[in-house]
Amino acid sequence: MTARVAEIVVDGTALFLDKRFDYLIPPGMDVTPGVRVVVPMRESVRSGIVWAVKASAEAGQLRPIARVVDRDPVLTPHQMRMAEWLCDRYAATLPEAVSAILPGAFRVRARKVLVAAPEASIPDDVRALPLFRFIAECEPEWRDIRARSKADERKAREFLRAGFVREDLRVDEAVGEKRQAYLVARAPAEELRREGERRSRRAPRQSDLLLQLAACRELIWDRRAHPPSSVAPLVEAGLVEVAERRVSRDGDRGEEEPWPELTPYQAAAVRALAEMSRHGHGVALLHGVTGSGKTEVYLHLIRAAIEQDGQALVLVPEIALTPQLVRRFQRRFGGKVAVLHSGLSLGERREEWTRVLAGEASVVIGARSAVFAPMRRLRLVVIDEEHEPSYKQEDAPHYDAREVALWRAREAGALVVLGSATPSLASMYRVERGEARLVSLPVRANGKPLPPVDVIDMREELRAGNRSIFSRRLAEELERTVAQGMQAILFLNRRGFAHAALCRACGHGMECPRCDIHLTVHRRSHGHVLICHYCGHEEPLIRRCPACGEEALVPYGLGTEQVEHHLLREWPNLRVLRMDFDTTRRKGALESIIERFQRGEADVLVGTQMIAKGLDFPRVRLVGVVAADAMLTLPDYRANERAFQLLTQVAGRAGRADTDGMTLIQTYQPGHRAIEAARSHDYRMFYEREREGRAFFRYPPFCELAVFLASHTEERLAHGAAARFERELERSPSAGNLTILPAGPSGIRRIDNVYRYQVVIKYAAWQDVKEDVVRAYRLVKEKMNRLGGSAALDVNAQRIG
Ligand code: ADP
Ligand code: ZN
Repeated sequence: MTARVAEIVVDGTALFLDKRFDYLIPPGMDVTPGVRVVVPMRESVRSGIVWAVKASAEAGQLRPIARVVDRDPVLTPHQMRMAEWLCDRYAATLPEAVSAILPGAFRVRARKVLVAAPEASIPDDVRALPLFRFIAECEPEWRDIRARSKADERKAREFLRAGFVREDLRVDEAVGEKRQAYLVARAPAEELRREGERRSRRAPRQSDLLLQLAACRELIWDRRAHPPSSVAPLVEAGLVEVAERRVSRDGDRGEEEPWPELTPYQAAAVRALAEMSRHGHGVALLHGVTGSGKTEVYLHLIRAAIEQDGQALVLVPEIALTPQLVRRFQRRFGGKVAVLHSGLSLGERREEWTRVLAGEASVVIGARSAVFAPMRRLRLVVIDEEHEPSYKQEDAPHYDAREVALWRAREAGALVVLGSATPSLASMYRVERGEARLVSLPVRANGKPLPPVDVIDMREELRAGNRSIFSRRLAEELERTVAQGMQAILFLNRRGFAHAALCRACGHGMECPRCDIHLTVHRRSHGHVLICHYCGHEEPLIRRCPACGEEALVPYGLGTEQVEHHLLREWPNLRVLRMDFDTTRRKGALESIIERFQRGEADVLVGTQMIAKGLDFPRVRLVGVVAADAMLTLPDYRANERAFQLLTQVAGRAGRADTDGMTLIQTYQPGHRAIEAARSHDYRMFYEREREGRAFFRYPPFCELAVFLASHTEERLAHGAAARFERELERSPSAGNLTILPAGPSGIRRIDNVYRYQVVIKYAAWQDVKEDVVRAYRLVKEKMNRLGGSAALDVNAQRIG
């Protein structure tokens, strides 16, 4: 007799779960691939996804599926193939791949619990027992009972046999049908801001909320950030209202925006790309200088895709950094746009996902993980700022959204447009090999030339007796800019007040007690503190050096806080905003800074690389790079590429509208190749030279890298695991296709008292080596997990250590 059997991928991170498990489909149960189910495993239950349904003659011993969660699949067949591809490409396990693709909002928690039978059927003496009362009140799982005692476990089994208690299944979804509570502003922004400032000392939480609401008008109520006790007084004062409702999608869309006339270059680009699109799958690199109006090209292509009943996917490095772009899309396409980002509540995320799955949304915008959105009619994928490292996920499954997008587009017959002013070497090399077509926008949309970039040699400043962090030229232009009522951006790639604390007497640098990294100096109202950017360790900065005893510890090396500090000291009336990790940690803070700068509430924006990701502020005349040197010394083969990209991108923030702009780069290495290329706006020259170096030393794109990382609190074990991985590879049949760099400490040897050792490997094609590499990886990982450590493999790694 044949029965219906389901192959199921079960949720969980353990390696043994990396396969499909067979379960019996009980007669009458409706099950299709892509639906979520709950299945028994060992003595508990687990959630999972049905991968395939088949008929089998040997279903006799199989356990049946316990419950079906969905009527309709939550994964499309295309997404299931994508999951399998992720496993193949990034050495991920199938459950890992599924959990990367499916938003957390779809997670199911299943438990097998014990519940008490109806009271009347239970003898009084049993009902009085503590164990029975525990079961009746807490509905525990077996492991909760075991945690009490062995005797209780035996007793509970007796209860079960006697029918006093029975087993039951509890299935919770991450998101129920609950409505969402919002905090909504009831007063004008100025009043909220005023009230916020007034309460900043007495009631910092209230103040926080008011300032956030002043910027964004409404927030989803996160009760941890804003407990009811701090919201209630604001409601009483008539400043804030609590609204309970379904998530609104058509909220503030603003008015519709007209379609501007394209510049001749834009029009030619749209024509070329639309022509490619007619032939189905293709890859294009849209190389457009900063301010060339790439967004407008995307918008036209998307409109064409929608007109042909297709869907478009737009990836951006970070949604919070692109409020301007998102709003422009919403104004052009209204309710057809779905925005996926980490700021959404689970419920909102699920709702957006469902709209895409149902085909209601034609345009999906999101960061990296939006590449997994469930589109069935994909015609176009746009990857904006394609050179950004954030497209690569640093944790398992270590995917690269650019590669996933290419795979998807190939499957779906869609066009991929990679857009950037500073294309990654990888993408330009694709063009060189004929795998992508180059489309250029060589001039700005406003018809003006790119702003001139001047390099200032800071050694000369010292010689001339200027000890300020601002060169005379930068100071002068800053004053002129502000006098003209224009704005300036000052860029520095380091946050905090100072990069390190060093002893002037003996040279000792202050290090984190838990990590092998120096501590960063930050300024607080009560003085300077030392903070570890890796584990959060914090201690006061004192003068006395712990190594030599001299009172000689001083902050060393500029950070953004110090730039802000010096600005205000030299120009006390200057209005300064700072945008870095520390000022944007709070939800809504980043958007608020961008909006305030846009409204002209500040003269100067000081920031880290966040400010180099495609922002468009029309009133910025001057861009100053305070110290380019901080970028030139990164210990990575891509340091030059990254420095050139950052410099060009940040320079490109100047002069974007009707006024001219200029960029000043301060440095001690004026001849550096990245600076030289940024100064002359010469991408081509940079590409040629960098390409030569990579080819010579054999680095990507001329090979691919993978990094194996073993972590353990015991250094010997971490090192041993890396050495073992190295040995396994050397003995493997693939050894001839691999360059194996010797096992050694990773860039930071210890983080939060966990030691990290790595092995870097190089190879020409993953397909040729993957079998042996993955086998060695899994072998060592399993051993490491047993020893209480962990191991990871980053395939196509973008960083070493
Ligand atoms: P990029 O992303 O290439 O740096 P943007 O898409 O941000 O450039 O465009 C730069 C500026 O030029 C924006 O302010 C945009 O509104 C404007 N712009 C782009 N295309 C046009 C056009 N065809 N007509 C008028 N303004 C345009
Ligand atoms: Zn630390």
